[in-house]
Amino acid sequence: MRTIKTLLQLLMLSVVGQSRLPSPQRSHMFSSRSLVYICVTGKVYHSTRSCHGLRNAKHEIRLVSETEAVGEWKRRKCKVCY
Ligand SMILES: [Zn+2]
Repeated sequence: MRTIKTLLQLLMLSVVGQSRLPSPQRSHMFSSRSLVYICVTGKVYHSTRSCHGLRNAKHEIRLVSETEAVGEWKRRKCKVCY
């Protein structure tokens, strides 16, 4: 899954480089890709809301950027959905 993601990103980068898309479109693609889910009491962040690591969460779930999840919340990637 992770390898496929990386390949797709590389492919997307080369396509963007060739077709020179307007920048708003590029930044939208970037921001939608880097949002993750965290439970306020958990230790990890999730790529999908439907991850079963989150299904058991009894506390508030927040949608934050991946940078924020790592930097401010000190989270690691969830082993189930990454
Ligand atoms: Zn997860």
